[in-house]
Amino acid sequence: MLDADRTAVYVNQAYCALLEQSQERAVGRTVLELPLFGALTADPAGEAWFHRVCNGLTIGQTSSTSFFRFDLPALENGQPRRCFWKLKASRIPSGPEGGDAASGYLAFRVSNVTERVEREAIEEREKARLRSEAQLRQIAADETAARLRAHQEQFATALAFAKVGAWELDARTGLITCTEQCKLNLGLQPDDILSEQRLFTELIAPEFRADARARMESALAERRHFETEYRVTSFYPAERWLLVRGQGKFGEDGTLNEILGFTIDITARKKAELEQERLTAVERDARQQSDRYAEAMDHFVSAVTHELRSPLSAITSWSELLTRSTDPGHLSQAAAALKRNARQLSLMVDDLLDTGAIVSGKLSVSRNPVVLDVLVQDVLRDQDWEAQRKGVALSSELASCRVIGDEARIKQIVWNLLSNAIKFTQQGKITVTLRNDIAHAILEVRDTGCGIDASALPRIFDRFEQVRTDVAGRIGGLGLGLWLVKSLVEMHGGTVAAESAGRGQGCLFRVSLPLLTSNEVSNIA
Ligand code: ADP
Repeated sequence: MLDADRTAVYVNQAYCALLEQSQERAVGRTVLELPLFGALTADPAGEAWFHRVCNGLTIGQTSSTSFFRFDLPALENGQPRRCFWKLKASRIPSGPEGGDAASGYLAFRVSNVTERVEREAIEEREKARLRSEAQLRQIAADETAARLRAHQEQFATALAFAKVGAWELDARTGLITCTEQCKLNLGLQPDDILSEQRLFTELIAPEFRADARARMESALAERRHFETEYRVTSFYPAERWLLVRGQGKFGEDGTLNEILGFTIDITARKKAELEQERLTAVERDARQQSDRYAEAMDHFVSAVTHELRSPLSAITSWSELLTRSTDPGHLSQAAAALKRNARQLSLMVDDLLDTGAIVSGKLSVSRNPVVLDVLVQDVLRDQDWEAQRKGVALSSELASCRVIGDEARIKQIVWNLLSNAIKFTQQGKITVTLRNDIAHAILEVRDTGCGIDASALPRIFDRFEQVRTDVAGRIGGLGLGLWLVKSLVEMHGGTVAAESAGRGQGCLFRVSLPLLTSNEVSNIA
């Protein structure tokens, strides 16, 4: 307690313990001699408070400080001991009759708050440390997030550049969330909704749906990634091909949660592959065709040799007989045989010459009106003897028809078809019909002969093509007849086709030639 001169009039035991001094040494000393505020002078705020309470505090008033620092002298060569005190000042009357503001005593209560202050300081430092750690962590997290964003942007740019779309299928709802590029790849607008159902019932081209689903489901069942390629429909008639890779994500209980994957536009690669496949197929066909051609050529050479040798040896034999025989009866027989064989040779040479002329583009056909029914009737009459010789019935039903063309060549067409029918029919009948449809004359030669295997049918109009038959004995020919028929029919603007139900089921050859038009009739007139 201080009096008006700021001299200590009373100190209690606890205060002395704080100062580590005796009561005798403290009482009667001024405040400047007491270490009460010794350190306070170093604290301008504390000193200001002290002067305020000394001068301004009236009786009955109190004033408190927050804590301030007070260093006790060092014990032995050590550092001054740091303490924190908190002060409360009250002005009390100096006697029973009271006194004015300046005359009362100033009572100070001094609390040692060192422990609390140090604890709070430690706590504050800890808080600051935590705060700076948190800030560091935040900075690191921000940097990581920024790096991640940059990588994601780079990734997205790379995906877009490579036309790669990313997608995610929710296994429970069937909805697919995907990147814009994925929608572009599928031919969808950015705000279109995509689902598994839409993908498999609309977007994937029908012929790829079953395969794409099977690949996906088997891969999911085996917990491995899947890969499939398909065409999408949205760009029709343009082609768009996608390669799709995906993998399932499963929960801990094994249920499929989602499927993640990519779509890649592989149209350019696929087109190149398909073109390569097409070229390979063309090349393979060409090779097969050339092999067949070589084989047919071999066959042709041996056929020509044989076909020439038979009539030549017949002619040689009959000529020799004529020179040696004196029997006049042999004369007419030899003449007939020589004529027959010479004609056979000449027909063969004609076929060969015609073939050469057609191949070199030198054969031309004249364009004159031809009465087709009369022409067919003539050929039937010429070949009737041969049919009778084989015991094959020849019948016809001919409507009157006029076409425009080369009479000799049209006769050759009919002749070849009819002679083949007789040649390849051992028994039964041959029917020749002629009718008109709107713009064509239709000639049909039907026989009940050996027929043609379905696999051989597409080739019989090829040059040198001869199909092995079950007919007993060798059937002559050079494999040129039907090729000549086809070439000549086409030179007349017509078509020819063959039908057969197979071996032993007979054949039908149908020739269609354009009818003579009224314009052509008036031009000719
Ligand atoms: P070629 O008669 O000289 O063998 P073609 O070109 O006239 O040659 O006929 C080609 C092949 O077509 C014949 O070898 C034969 O196998 C088949 N062919 C033609 N016409 C008939 C037919 N009416 N019946 C059965 N096969 C036929």
